[in-house]
Amino acid sequence: MIPSLRRPTYVEVDLGAIRANVIKLGSFARGSVHIGAVVKADAYGHGAREVAHAAYEAGAEMFFVATLDEALSLRTSLPEPPIVMLGEPDSRYLDEVFEANITPTIHQMTTLKAMIALTHSRHGSWRPALHLEVETGLHRLGSDTSSVLELAALARAHGLEVAGVYSHLARADEGEPGRASVFVQVARLTKAYERTCEVLGYRPLLHMANTAGLLRYPETAFDLVRLGIGMYGYEGPSTLGLRPALRLVSRVVRLHELDGDSGVSYGHRRSLPSGTTIATIPIGYADGVRRNLFDAGGQVLIRGRRHDLAGVVAMDHVMVVVDDQTVAVGDEVVLIGGQGDDFLGADEIASRLCTISYEILTGISDRVPRRYR
Ligand code: PLP
Repeated sequence: MIPSLRRPTYVEVDLGAIRANVIKLGSFARGSVHIGAVVKADAYGHGAREVAHAAYEAGAEMFFVATLDEALSLRTSLPEPPIVMLGEPDSRYLDEVFEANITPTIHQMTTLKAMIALTHSRHGSWRPALHLEVETGLHRLGSDTSSVLELAALARAHGLEVAGVYSHLARADEGEPGRASVFVQVARLTKAYERTCEVLGYRPLLHMANTAGLLRYPETAFDLVRLGIGMYGYEGPSTLGLRPALRLVSRVVRLHELDGDSGVSYGHRRSLPSGTTIATIPIGYADGVRRNLFDAGGQVLIRGRRHDLAGVVAMDHVMVVVDDQTVAVGDEVVLIGGQGDDFLGADEIASRLCTISYEILTGISDRVPRRYR
């Protein structure tokens, strides 16, 4: 989508909040634990390059992305630090992985063999690094222990460096109901890791914890933590004082009064009385504001106060009921984030929509320009 630069609708990212969150979360980890920043999906919608730089300044040493395109794009602005792909690259693009010094996760023997063939064809002293993911309970991408051992043995035989062994927690954010599952995953990972170290003859970085893992099960931090949602200011007890870094902002572009009882927007889903003031805001579902936010009791902030949606979200516009006569055309509207003393969090919106803050944040489309401060 073409970014709409000439519209009063934008995302504002506070990079100071990213830095402060990384430092706060880092203080939770033991001294020797390295900080990894998860900046996949354009840093959960915040902008990967800018977030990665802020996290780097705050002490992050390794950067995690999902896809090769994300890795290559980040490498252009972050020449030195390790960039690890959580997904496995397609063998056809391994040349690009090497050229940009990206560290892939390898799940399949065929990919490892392609990597080895490429290494041999290049004749250098160059020793590519890779990470191995152990299947411990998420059932997404990880390899079972015997496959990890085979991959490790082959990597070692051909001089490739296994720089990390990891797994991902399935239920760390659930509190008590997820506790047993976390410990099962930890036991499986540590067992697989010890056997991998025997095969390799050295101890690669062991990593498992995401934000919830670090905060709720510090024993999952091992050598490195992969911080995602906490770095963006969500997750964790409010006492921790993480600061949400993103605001989704627009302005009132039209105010008008209903001249009879009427519904608003497609389908006229709710009838409003004559005389109700409606504000039109230039942001819609093509920007990532869910169409059904209306059914979910969605609100926006104007002049520090909450205003209800008047009808379903349209592709390019949201209409809200304005009961405050001081609201004027040009007023700032906040769809996610703080204004005055109130705060409309991505987690609050997510729970209205029966989803998680991650989906709300990554759902803000690239039609909305990102601004940084
Ligand atoms: N590690 C992996 C493999 C992930 O897929 C993710 C996010 O989905 C993270 C770490 C970061 O998790 P969180 O955002 O919950 O901190």
